Amino acid sequence: MEFCIDCGKELSDKEMRCTRCGRPRNNQKVLPVVNKGGFGWFLIGTLAPIAGLVLYLMWRIEKPRAAKGAGLGAIIGSILFVVLYIAMIVFIVFIEREGY
Ligand SMILES: [Zn+2]
Repeated sequence: MEFCIDCGKELSDKEMRCTRCGRPRNNQKVLPVVNKGGFGWFLIGTLAPIAGLVLYLMWRIEKPRAAKGAGLGAIIGSILFVVLYIAMIVFIVFIEREGY
């Protein structure tokens, strides 16, 4: 997978130039698929999904790797939050029915 060197957009194999900013593909730097730069931001997004979302929107263009990490963290964090919330409700309902 290649990314545009100017704007960070993902380039498909067919695209000869970036469809967002128009930079020709030839001198693209190939970035590794594994996204090492964004892991810290991924953790922050997981712990604080709203902060992750804000960071993602701010950095989408300038720092696509950090933005991806933060955005992904925000998604995972939101899912975890909903799961924990549902688990808590189920737990409370269970306790109430048992009459403790
Ligand atoms: Zn571009």
